[in-house]
Amino acid sequence: MSKNFDAIIIGAGVMGTSIAFHLTERGMKPLILERRQVGYGATGSSSGLVRMHYDLEVESHLAWESFQYFRNWRERVGGECGFTRTGFLHIEPEKHASQLRANVEMQKKLGIPTEVISGDDVKRLAASFHTDDISIAAYEPESGYADATLTANSFLTAAKVHGAEFMQDCGVTGLQVSAGKITGVKTAGAEFSAPVVINAAGAWAGSVSEMAGVKIPLDTWTHDVVHVRRPAAVGDHPTVIDSSLGMYFRPDSGGLTLIALEDDSRIGEAPDAEPGYVAKDFVERSIERICMRIPAMEQGSLHSSHVGRDGLTPDQRAIIGAAGPQGFYLVTGFSGTGFKLSPAIGLCVSELVMDGAAKSIDITGFDPARFERGEYLKGEHDYGFIWRNSLS
Ligand SMILES: Cc1cc2nc3c(=O)[nH]c(=O)nc-3n(C[C@H](O)[C@H](O)[C@H](O)COP(=O)(O)OP(=O)(O)OC[C@H]3O[C@@H](n4cnc5c(N)ncnc54)[C@H](O)[C@@H]3O)c2cc1C
Repeated sequence: MSKNFDAIIIGAGVMGTSIAFHLTERGMKPLILERRQVGYGATGSSSGLVRMHYDLEVESHLAWESFQYFRNWRERVGGECGFTRTGFLHIEPEKHASQLRANVEMQKKLGIPTEVISGDDVKRLAASFHTDDISIAAYEPESGYADATLTANSFLTAAKVHGAEFMQDCGVTGLQVSAGKITGVKTAGAEFSAPVVINAAGAWAGSVSEMAGVKIPLDTWTHDVVHVRRPAAVGDHPTVIDSSLGMYFRPDSGGLTLIALEDDSRIGEAPDAEPGYVAKDFVERSIERICMRIPAMEQGSLHSSHVGRDGLTPDQRAIIGAAGPQGFYLVTGFSGTGFKLSPAIGLCVSELVMDGAAKSIDITGFDPARFERGEYLKGEHDYGFIWRNSLS
């Protein structure tokens, strides 16, 4: 006989664990099933940037709601999320100046502490930066980065304290549907029943959806990251998305700087393909670019590099909502930017499941069926795709 739960969550990344935390806060007793270990997927390799600057209003709103958790983590969730305030700079080329101003205005209306600044202001904030090519940037003094693995573990711990059950090394191999309703899941060793099943399986969510007869346009995005030792001459620096040079970077503990490129990701690798090593010339290209922004980095040295993989959608925005049999929900396709949204996504998905709609923030735009209707999510003052080589 299969054991009954209020809900089953497939995947223990930041999304699955955040959903579990929020469901248990409202009295539900979910089961979280993870084929490997907590944070095995994108979560475990996330760069962890925590900022509110997006060109799509709902993403800024979700990031701002999530920020209330990150900056008050112990009281709100318990445990640690590793949030480190560094200040955040979003540098855009001059041709995007009007979009950047409009997006900062949109974010200010949401209550986000942010301002438009000049290249000279950037120099004052980050003395080691070469700023001759910067005419405009957005600055968020409160933002920074956090640790996605700690975040997922804290969510999971708190969910378990409130009655959730967790099984690792327990992959879902099939879904059970009866009379158009989801009734449970199958794993290699057991079956579990629930009237609600949430697919939070990251880059693997496409194959999990197919178990319910639901097809989603989910590709994979494989992303390289490098850590370098920062020379003393560079000193501290903020967290930065530098769209002028096509990279992002942030400080890390131990005097390191994490760097990744916007034009380096590999699209369409099999979700289970061994991530292996970073692309052949990635480290050289990253170091070349960081030295263009911070010339003193020439004295730095290579520390390490790693690779991670997330699910990618055609508009590089998430898929969130009900799909297929009644009781089946998709929470996936975070396209390399989901970590900082995870607290608010968990909150909104718990409302969707328990109240029939998210009340805190309207997430209907992430409707899984939008692609069938030929609708792509796009910011009102958009900068184009984030991951530039993934245009299809
Ligand atoms: C290198 C990299 C850098 C990033 N940097 C940032 C950043 O700076 N800021 C930001 O906001 N976001 C960033 N992201 C994106 C962010 O990390 C992801 O969007 C987020 O972690 C996705 O979480 P998830 O829970 O949806 O997926 P995942 O963390 O991938 O979790 C899915 C889980 O489902 C499990 N699973 C799969 N199939 C099954 C099954 N059949 N049964 C049971 N379990 C299953 C997997 O093992 C996995 O643990 C980055 C991502 C990567 C890869």
